[in-house]
Amino acid sequence: MRFFLHKDGVGRRPGLCALGTLLLACLASAVPAIASDTIVLKNGRRIVALSAVEDGDKVRYQTEAGELSLPKSMVDHIERGTAGPMPESRAASAANMGITPPSMEASAEIEKAAVHDGSIDRNYLARVEGEARSGDATASERAAQALHAASQFELGHGDLEHALADERTALTFTPDNPVILMNVAYLHLKRSEYKASIEYLERAHRAAPDDPEVAKLAGWAYYGMNKPDRAVAEWKRALALRPDAEVERALAKAMRDNQEEANYRENESSHFTLRYSGEAQPDLAREILRALEVHFSAIESELNYTPPDSIGVILYTQQAFADITRAPGWVGALNDGRLRIPVQGLTSLTSELSRVLKHELTHSFIQQKTHTRAPVWLQEGLAQWMEGQRSRDSAAVLVQVYDEKQAMALGQLEGSWMQLSGPIAGYAYAWALANVEYIVRAGGMGDMERILNRIAEGSSTENAVQETLHSNYEDLAKDTVVYLRKNYL
Ligand SMILES: [Zn+2]
Repeated sequence: MRFFLHKDGVGRRPGLCALGTLLLACLASAVPAIASDTIVLKNGRRIVALSAVEDGDKVRYQTEAGELSLPKSMVDHIERGTAGPMPESRAASAANMGITPPSMEASAEIEKAAVHDGSIDRNYLARVEGEARSGDATASERAAQALHAASQFELGHGDLEHALADERTALTFTPDNPVILMNVAYLHLKRSEYKASIEYLERAHRAAPDDPEVAKLAGWAYYGMNKPDRAVAEWKRALALRPDAEVERALAKAMRDNQEEANYRENESSHFTLRYSGEAQPDLAREILRALEVHFSAIESELNYTPPDSIGVILYTQQAFADITRAPGWVGALNDGRLRIPVQGLTSLTSELSRVLKHELTHSFIQQKTHTRAPVWLQEGLAQWMEGQRSRDSAAVLVQVYDEKQAMALGQLEGSWMQLSGPIAGYAYAWALANVEYIVRAGGMGDMERILNRIAEGSSTENAVQETLHSNYEDLAKDTVVYLRKNYL
């Protein structure tokens, strides 16, 4: 699950025109790189983030709970981690608690034969798999261990797809091995495939009824399925079987969520379940629901798509929001599958809030329509388009940047934008909007729908663009600039 959130309420970008040459200078070095960083606060607390970046008097950082920021005055220093593979942000879930996979006692000899010199020995795997097909129990065990070692190697490199394929093959050789079952479940959890993970966990539970690891993973699955009560029950059971710091952290988070939401009142409309704290105005809640339904119909007919499940919306007073996300002083909206909208001090629906709602709701539609596969540039471009933003004010700068051969490739804007500095992020929003605006203006929303459908079917975004528009990313950028020039300059 990816998070979309906006410090300034909407995906609005900072004034582009003021950026001038600074922007051009920054762009050359704006190649995204993901590292895991540790922010060390002056009070000694340490915050581990996927990435942290200094931005004026703030430190912005990305965590599994979304983008957060801290006043720089609280920060002592940032420890830079080693660059790792891209996190699986598209499938990374709200419930990704940093839980480690269940470990298996395996022969070091088999592990070394399966993975050595920095890669998987596929010849060895083919040989032991062949031997195992004879039906010999020892050979089957060896094949399962070798495939598990390969899967762990792939997991370590962020390749969840092959990790899952190898672990499932391992399972064919030892169908009742609880650790292999749990590892298949674990990989499904990492992919936000909660229902699939439960099937394997039920099999693991039958094979090892008192294994605390099964309860630990089941808690995660239920949390991801938005069944916090069952998650709490599983995690309590896990802790009763064995103390575990990871489970304690997960349990504390789930209980915090439950406690907070218990005080909330609930409203429902045909497509939304809205919760709000007693401090929020009931009239405001009703107005927000009405606005959401209007936006829902508009986006539904534009994208020709109806999300199958009711969409959760939570209105927070700012204090509650900070408490629950542990994000001091953060202001803005957040979309982690549910729309979390801070409404402190508001008594009625403003046009600004209405635009925020439409922007965030668009993210929900795209997430569901593409099974969370849409890249960030398409998400932010389309969300801005839907809320009514157009490229008029940014066209001149975008064209200038392109003419200077400094335009960011859309391929660079597919993954997380968190590591982009303020000016570059402003450029990224504007450039994403311009490309989406060109696509919609040139071929209608039908083209956008076809692109989203292809992404949902598993195509890369560039291939989806290629098949729909017969243009690669480079052509699209060129056509977008021609469009900007013709319409705004
Ligand atoms: Zn957005």
